[in-house]
Amino acid sequence: MKRTLLIIDDSKAIRTQVTQTLVDGSLFGEILQAADGIEGFKLLVNHDVDIILCDIEMPGIDGLKFLAMLQSRDDLKDMPVIMLTSHKDISTKVRGLESGASDYITKPFEPTELVARLRVHLQIKSLQDELRRSNQLLLELAQTDPLTRLCNRRHLREKLEIELNRCFRSDNPIAMIMADIDHFKQVNDKFGHQVGDEVLVRVADLIQEELRTYDLAARYGGEEFCLVLPETNLLSAVEVAERIRFKAGKMSFGGKLDSANLTISFGVAAYDGSVEGSIDDLIKKADDALYMAKHAGRNNVKTMDD
Ligand code: GH3
Ligand code: MG
Ligand code: MG
Ligand code: MG
Repeated sequence: MKRTLLIIDDSKAIRTQVTQTLVDGSLFGEILQAADGIEGFKLLVNHDVDIILCDIEMPGIDGLKFLAMLQSRDDLKDMPVIMLTSHKDISTKVRGLESGASDYITKPFEPTELVARLRVHLQIKSLQDELRRSNQLLLELAQTDPLTRLCNRRHLREKLEIELNRCFRSDNPIAMIMADIDHFKQVNDKFGHQVGDEVLVRVADLIQEELRTYDLAARYGGEEFCLVLPETNLLSAVEVAERIRFKAGKMSFGGKLDSANLTISFGVAAYDGSVEGSIDDLIKKADDALYMAKHAGRNNVKTMDD
């Protein structure tokens, strides 16, 4: 993988010297040059830069101001910056390191030292990038149901708390739909667990397709799903549930399963924006409505107002 270096220095001689030192291209595929902090910052936001060499003393936006600009941006504050500074200037070196620089090189620099330090910091950066990617992956795994890719029950609660507070603050309604596949045990018994799993995935996909981007869908239990619809009142949520119920009835599976008539029962609850309630009360209301739907013969949508 070819990397990109950004060198910021008001001295063209230094920039040329750096470029010549790295001319063999073994470390960098591209070397960008800027004569001051502003020019450097513009290049930085428009290119995929891996590491920066930055002079401290420059007219206009100098190295320390440039470092402060990086620190103010979440996407740039971990960018490795090696300061270029003069031999004696210890206090500036310290201020630079305290302002977010990773290291420094004294001018005039030794080409072999420059290459060695760049190599070390590129290595640290790639390890940090990998760690960040793994952490992101772990976080996603911890929040996602592996079979359906919907969010899991625990993550739903976390997000529900945020959504509830948002709706209460803005006096907006919020609705919840609990959906449970009817006689799902029979699907497993007749067609096997694997086909059962496929049905769960298809139902999850159907639910996801019917929701808006800011709605939430979770696999709440084995064959039970929970949908959260911010800024939605009870009536509109019932319509959403009816639509999913109708489409589930029309779903074709191909192969053995076609004889199974898949139906789903729904319980719907909502806060209308004027009264504040708890997460647990909302879940309980939706659950009780679902229980009513099952008792009313399944394949229908109920609310506690019915
Ligand atoms: P009801 O209409 O009352 O909801 O009946 P039901 O058979 O759907 O409900 P019950 O709670 O009796 O059974 C749920 C079944 O869901 C039992 C279990 O084997 C199945 N199940 C739960 N999780 C999974 C899963 O991950 N994969 C598969 N294939 N089946 C699952
Ligand atoms: Mg200078
Ligand atoms: Mg069921
Ligand atoms: Mg169930």
